[in-house]
Amino acid sequence: MYNDHYEEQSVGCLGGILSRLGVTNSPVYVRASSSDEKLPAYEECMSQASPLNASHAMHRMDVKADSEVEAIVKKAINDVSSELRAISLDLHENMETGMKEFHAHEVLTNYLESKGFKVTRGAYGMETAFQAEYTRGEGRRVGICSEYDGLPGLGQGCGHNLIAISGVATVIGVKALLDSGKASGKVILFGTPAEELSIGKIVMVHKRAFQDNVDVCMMLHPGPYDANYAAMIAVHDVKLEFYGKPTHASATPWEGVNALDAMVQVWNNISMMRQQLLPTDRVHGIVTNGGQAPNIIPDRTSAFFFVRTTRFSEIDRLMKKLENCFTAAALSTGCEVNWTWREIGVTKDVFQNSVLADKYGAYMEKEGIKFPSREEQQKGAGGSTDMGNVSYEIPTIHPIFGIHTTASNHTIGFTAAAKTLDAHNDTIMACRGLALTAADVLLDESFYQAVKRDFDENVKN
Ligand SMILES: [Zn+2]
Repeated sequence: MYNDHYEEQSVGCLGGILSRLGVTNSPVYVRASSSDEKLPAYEECMSQASPLNASHAMHRMDVKADSEVEAIVKKAINDVSSELRAISLDLHENMETGMKEFHAHEVLTNYLESKGFKVTRGAYGMETAFQAEYTRGEGRRVGICSEYDGLPGLGQGCGHNLIAISGVATVIGVKALLDSGKASGKVILFGTPAEELSIGKIVMVHKRAFQDNVDVCMMLHPGPYDANYAAMIAVHDVKLEFYGKPTHASATPWEGVNALDAMVQVWNNISMMRQQLLPTDRVHGIVTNGGQAPNIIPDRTSAFFFVRTTRFSEIDRLMKKLENCFTAAALSTGCEVNWTWREIGVTKDVFQNSVLADKYGAYMEKEGIKFPSREEQQKGAGGSTDMGNVSYEIPTIHPIFGIHTTASNHTIGFTAAAKTLDAHNDTIMACRGLALTAADVLLDESFYQAVKRDFDENVKN
């Protein structure tokens, strides 16, 4: 789709000079001056190198992931597959919930350090967050995310043991490319805790972990299907409380103010409101306190609601409607009302960068994966992730890779699928696609410019 943005590599005036200085990878032999060899004129070189023509000059130096690059990246990833399988099974066996992923934090950071990464443990003020980086020379900076928290009662029901190793495998593939001397720049693996609670990456966005350190950020997520344009929607949550007046429910009910009636009224208000919501809007909740005893008019009730919609810019509309439902219920029952929206803020939808998503898709198609159309993929929206908040700061993708299961995420069937050898091999395959996409970010100036343009045009403005 964006192929028209890239042009074939051409070694122009500047490239020719760099070759002769030995700056390219393949040796260039300069023949003794002969009549048919046309050397570039001084003016031509100066105009190519001038800052005004900088992008043009850079463009001419573009290198794309060729078969040699592919071989280096793929070999590095395949070589660590069995070590990563052991880590994945360990994290599956010893599941930890959000912000308590101490074992995962230790296992992953020790492994990354042993592979030559500079590791910061307990990064960004969170004990179970980390940052692992590797730099070689000047260049662009690629970020990858790992998650490793599980679900109470379900274990690794979202397959975050696979996400954990997918980040590690991907940065190992990119590091091998940097070590080969074929690319320069930086790769960072962000260890992002508590995704299921939608905390880790939001804290890290607040602390500018991604904005100040990398040019793009990508990660992989397992699922029952493959999607390079997986739709992840925005979500916010609110805690609601009603306060009434208690009394004997049979002897003196007229003296009470019933906080449970207010709650029932809220449910009715929301149910009727739903008819006028967009098909893509969601409001769902539970009562967390419905009163103390049947013979006491409840003086305090509480509930917990989620609201979701396609784009986070639309969430205000839903919040306002919901708040009206709360206020109306309080007024009609004579209760006091109080509500608190989640302090850390809204979890934004994921804005998939289409240039990165198409590139990842193309590499995966080479591996034999077929993707539904972008429109079809976006119809399957429902889940949310804190990666959304990253995607509104820098170019991001969050593709889903299938792991040979029909079970959906957050089920016991998915927990079982997340430890099979098939799922592991699917993970390693997806890592090859993601690492090669990262390689293109490092190597190909015009590709990166297209990525940035897509972000600037669709997200920033
Ligand atoms: Zn998940």
